[in-house]
Amino acid sequence: MDKEFQKTVLARDLRLNELRVQHDIECLHCSTSGTNLQTVWGEGCTDSVIFFVGEAPGEYENELGRPFVGQAGKLLTAIFSEIGLCREHCYIANVIKKRPPNNRAPLPDEIAKCGLYLIEQILIVQPKVIVALGGTATKFLLGTQTGITQLRGVWTSWTHPQLINRSSVPLLPTFHPSYILQNNDKDEKEKIRSHLVSDIKMSVSRSRQLGYLSFL
Ligand code: URA
Repeated sequence: MDKEFQKTVLARDLRLNELRVQHDIECLHCSTSGTNLQTVWGEGCTDSVIFFVGEAPGEYENELGRPFVGQAGKLLTAIFSEIGLCREHCYIANVIKKRPPNNRAPLPDEIAKCGLYLIEQILIVQPKVIVALGGTATKFLLGTQTGITQLRGVWTSWTHPQLINRSSVPLLPTFHPSYILQNNDKDEKEKIRSHLVSDIKMSVSRSRQLGYLSFL
Protein backbone atom coordinates (compact mmCIF):
# COMPACT_ATOMS: atom_id res chain seq x y z
CA MET A 1 0.00 0.00 0.00
CA ASP A 2 1.59 3.31 -0.98
CA LYS A 3 1.92 6.13 1.56
CA GLU A 4 -0.87 8.31 0.10
CA PHE A 5 -3.30 5.41 0.10
CA GLN A 6 -2.27 4.46 3.63
CA LYS A 7 -3.20 7.99 4.68
CA THR A 8 -6.58 7.70 2.96
CA VAL A 9 -7.30 4.44 4.77
CA LEU A 10 -6.33 5.92 8.14
CA ALA A 11 -8.54 8.94 7.46
CA ARG A 12 -11.44 6.64 6.62
CA ASP A 13 -10.92 4.65 9.85
CA LEU A 14 -10.94 7.85 11.82
CA ARG A 15 -14.07 9.17 10.12
CA LEU A 16 -15.87 5.87 10.65
CA ASN A 17 -14.98 5.95 14.36
CA GLU A 18 -16.23 9.52 14.66
CA LEU A 19 -19.43 8.62 12.84
CA ARG A 20 -19.96 5.69 15.19
CA VAL A 21 -19.69 7.95 18.22
CA GLN A 22 -22.07 10.43 16.62
CA HIS A 23 -24.48 7.59 15.77
CA ASP A 24 -24.51 6.26 19.33
CA ILE A 25 -25.44 9.68 20.65
CA GLU A 26 -27.76 10.91 17.93
CA CYS A 27 -29.41 8.02 16.08
CA LEU A 28 -33.11 8.48 16.70
CA HIS A 29 -33.67 4.73 16.53
CA CYS A 30 -30.68 3.34 18.45
CA SER A 31 -30.40 6.01 21.14
CA THR A 32 -33.98 5.22 22.19
CA SER A 33 -33.66 1.40 22.01
CA GLY A 34 -33.26 -0.67 25.15
CA THR A 35 -30.06 -0.24 27.15
CA ASN A 36 -29.52 -4.01 27.05
CA LEU A 37 -28.83 -3.74 23.34
CA GLN A 38 -25.47 -2.89 21.91
CA THR A 39 -24.64 -1.16 18.66
CA VAL A 40 -23.52 -3.52 15.93
CA TRP A 41 -21.72 -0.93 13.87
CA GLY A 42 -20.10 -2.96 11.10
CA GLU A 43 -16.62 -4.24 10.39
CA GLY A 44 -14.06 -4.92 7.74
CA CYS A 45 -11.34 -3.02 6.00
CA THR A 46 -11.89 0.56 5.01
CA ASP A 47 -10.15 0.14 1.67
CA SER A 48 -12.72 -2.53 1.02
CA VAL A 49 -13.86 -3.02 -2.53
CA ILE A 50 -17.07 -4.91 -1.74
CA PHE A 51 -19.55 -3.59 0.81
CA PHE A 52 -22.10 -6.16 2.03
CA VAL A 53 -25.29 -4.76 3.53
CA GLY A 54 -27.53 -6.84 5.79
CA GLU A 55 -30.74 -6.04 7.63
CA ALA A 56 -30.25 -5.83 11.39
CA PRO A 57 -28.32 -7.60 14.16
CA GLY A 58 -29.76 -10.79 15.61
CA GLU A 59 -29.21 -12.29 19.05
CA TYR A 60 -25.56 -13.33 18.56
CA GLU A 61 -24.65 -10.13 16.80
CA ASN A 62 -26.08 -8.19 19.74
CA GLU A 63 -24.11 -10.32 22.19
CA LEU A 64 -20.81 -9.96 20.32
CA GLY A 65 -21.31 -6.50 18.81
CA ARG A 66 -20.31 -7.83 15.38
CA PRO A 67 -22.38 -8.25 12.21
CA PHE A 68 -23.19 -11.66 10.76
CA VAL A 69 -21.76 -13.91 13.48
CA GLY A 70 -24.92 -15.99 14.16
CA GLN A 71 -26.30 -18.82 12.01
CA ALA A 72 -26.85 -16.63 8.94
CA GLY A 73 -23.41 -15.12 9.41
CA LYS A 74 -21.75 -18.53 9.63
CA LEU A 75 -23.42 -19.48 6.38
CA LEU A 76 -22.28 -16.26 4.73
CA THR A 77 -18.72 -16.76 5.98
CA ALA A 78 -18.75 -20.37 4.70
CA ILE A 79 -19.86 -19.16 1.27
CA PHE A 80 -17.09 -16.54 1.30
CA SER A 81 -14.48 -19.24 2.01
CA GLU A 82 -15.93 -21.47 -0.69
CA ILE A 83 -15.11 -18.79 -3.26
CA GLY A 84 -11.85 -17.63 -1.65
CA LEU A 85 -13.18 -14.37 -0.24
CA CYS A 86 -12.31 -13.42 3.36
CA ARG A 87 -14.46 -11.26 5.59
CA GLU A 88 -11.34 -9.08 5.97
CA HIS A 89 -11.46 -8.27 2.23
CA CYS A 90 -14.91 -6.75 2.65
CA TYR A 91 -16.85 -4.29 4.73
CA ILE A 92 -20.02 -5.66 6.32
CA ALA A 93 -22.74 -3.58 7.97
CA ASN A 94 -26.48 -3.55 8.48
CA VAL A 95 -29.20 -1.04 7.69
CA ILE A 96 -30.16 -1.04 11.39
CA LYS A 97 -27.45 -1.04 14.05
CA LYS A 98 -29.49 -2.27 17.03
CA ARG A 99 -31.52 -5.44 17.21
CA PRO A 100 -35.29 -4.93 16.87
CA PRO A 101 -37.32 -6.49 19.73
CA ASN A 102 -38.19 -10.19 19.40
CA ASN A 103 -36.19 -10.42 16.21
CA ARG A 104 -38.95 -8.76 14.23
CA ALA A 105 -38.25 -7.07 10.92
CA PRO A 106 -37.21 -3.43 11.29
CA LEU A 107 -40.04 -0.91 10.90
CA PRO A 108 -39.96 1.72 8.12
CA ASP A 109 -39.50 4.45 10.71
CA GLU A 110 -36.48 2.65 12.28
CA ILE A 111 -34.99 2.10 8.83
CA ALA A 112 -35.41 5.76 7.92
CA LYS A 113 -33.70 6.88 11.14
CA CYS A 114 -30.80 4.45 11.38
CA GLY A 115 -30.32 3.94 7.64
CA LEU A 116 -28.86 7.44 7.36
CA TYR A 117 -25.73 6.18 9.10
CA LEU A 118 -25.36 3.27 6.70
CA ILE A 119 -25.32 5.76 3.83
CA GLU A 120 -22.58 7.72 5.60
CA GLN A 121 -20.60 4.50 6.15
CA ILE A 122 -20.81 3.69 2.43
CA LEU A 123 -19.72 7.21 1.53
CA ILE A 124 -16.69 6.91 3.81
CA VAL A 125 -15.65 3.45 2.59
CA GLN A 126 -16.30 4.35 -1.09
CA PRO A 127 -16.66 0.69 -2.17
CA LYS A 128 -16.40 -0.31 -5.82
CA VAL A 129 -19.30 -2.74 -5.51
CA ILE A 130 -22.24 -3.07 -3.09
CA VAL A 131 -24.04 -6.35 -2.39
CA ALA A 132 -27.47 -5.91 -0.79
CA LEU A 133 -28.35 -9.03 1.19
CA GLY A 134 -32.13 -9.43 1.20
CA GLY A 135 -35.20 -7.31 0.78
CA THR A 136 -34.65 -4.75 3.55
CA ALA A 137 -31.20 -3.68 2.33
CA THR A 138 -32.28 -3.69 -1.31
CA LYS A 139 -35.45 -1.70 -0.73
CA PHE A 140 -33.67 0.83 1.43
CA LEU A 141 -30.71 1.41 -0.87
CA LEU A 142 -32.69 1.45 -4.09
CA GLY A 143 -35.80 3.11 -2.73
CA THR A 144 -37.90 0.41 -4.36
CA GLN A 145 -40.86 -1.67 -3.26
CA THR A 146 -40.08 -4.50 -5.70
CA GLY A 147 -39.45 -7.85 -4.01
CA ILE A 148 -36.00 -9.41 -3.77
CA THR A 149 -37.01 -12.49 -5.79
CA GLN A 150 -37.56 -10.26 -8.79
CA LEU A 151 -34.44 -8.15 -8.29
CA ARG A 152 -31.81 -10.67 -7.25
CA GLY A 153 -28.89 -11.42 -9.50
CA VAL A 154 -29.45 -8.37 -11.70
CA TRP A 155 -26.94 -5.52 -11.51
CA THR A 156 -28.25 -2.10 -10.81
CA SER A 157 -26.58 0.91 -9.26
CA TRP A 158 -26.62 3.00 -6.12
CA THR A 159 -26.35 6.67 -6.81
CA HIS A 160 -25.33 9.43 -4.46
CA PRO A 161 -24.12 12.97 -5.16
CA GLN A 162 -21.30 12.63 -2.60
CA LEU A 163 -19.56 9.66 -4.21
CA ILE A 164 -15.98 10.57 -5.08
CA ASN A 165 -15.04 10.63 -8.80
CA ARG A 166 -18.26 8.96 -9.93
CA SER A 167 -21.98 9.25 -9.54
CA SER A 168 -22.90 5.63 -8.85
CA VAL A 169 -21.67 2.29 -7.50
CA PRO A 170 -22.70 -1.04 -9.08
CA LEU A 171 -25.13 -2.75 -6.70
CA LEU A 172 -26.15 -6.38 -6.77
CA PRO A 173 -29.26 -7.42 -4.85
CA THR A 174 -29.24 -11.01 -3.64
CA PHE A 175 -30.90 -13.28 -1.10
CA HIS A 176 -30.23 -12.87 2.59
CA PRO A 177 -28.50 -16.00 3.98
CA SER A 178 -31.25 -16.38 6.59
CA TYR A 179 -33.69 -17.00 3.73
CA ILE A 180 -31.85 -20.30 3.18
CA LEU A 181 -32.07 -21.19 6.87
CA GLN A 182 -35.79 -20.41 7.05
CA ASN A 183 -36.68 -22.67 4.14
CA ASN A 184 -37.63 -26.24 5.05
CA ASP A 185 -37.54 -27.69 1.58
CA LYS A 186 -34.17 -29.29 0.87
CA ASP A 187 -34.22 -28.65 -2.90
CA GLU A 188 -35.42 -25.09 -2.43
CA LYS A 189 -32.67 -24.49 0.17
CA GLU A 190 -30.05 -25.74 -2.31
CA LYS A 191 -31.47 -23.54 -5.05
CA ILE A 192 -31.42 -20.38 -2.92
CA ARG A 193 -27.90 -21.18 -1.72
CA SER A 194 -26.61 -21.65 -5.25
CA HIS A 195 -28.14 -18.31 -6.27
CA LEU A 196 -26.44 -16.62 -3.32
CA VAL A 197 -23.09 -18.25 -4.16
CA SER A 198 -23.30 -17.27 -7.83
CA ASP A 199 -24.31 -13.70 -6.95
CA ILE A 200 -21.38 -13.27 -4.57
CA LYS A 201 -19.07 -14.75 -7.22
CA MET A 202 -20.49 -12.22 -9.67
CA SER A 203 -19.67 -9.38 -7.30
CA VAL A 204 -16.07 -10.63 -7.03
CA SER A 205 -15.81 -10.90 -10.84
CA ARG A 206 -17.18 -7.39 -11.23
CA SER A 207 -14.59 -6.08 -8.78
CA ARG A 208 -11.88 -7.87 -10.76
CA GLN A 209 -13.14 -6.37 -14.02
CA LEU A 210 -12.89 -2.98 -12.38
CA GLY A 211 -9.26 -3.80 -11.59
CA TYR A 212 -9.66 -4.76 -7.93
CA LEU A 213 -9.35 -7.96 -5.92
CA SER A 214 -6.56 -9.13 -8.21
CA PHE A 215 -5.40 -11.42 -5.37
CA LEU A 216 -8.48 -13.65 -5.79
N1 URA B 1 -28.79 -10.75 9.78
C1 URA B 1 -28.46 -9.52 9.34
O1 URA B 1 -29.10 -8.96 8.48
N2 URA B 1 -27.40 -8.96 9.87
C2 URA B 1 -26.66 -9.53 10.78
O2 URA B 1 -25.70 -8.93 11.21
C3 URA B 1 -27.02 -10.81 11.20
C4 URA B 1 -28.09 -11.41 10.69
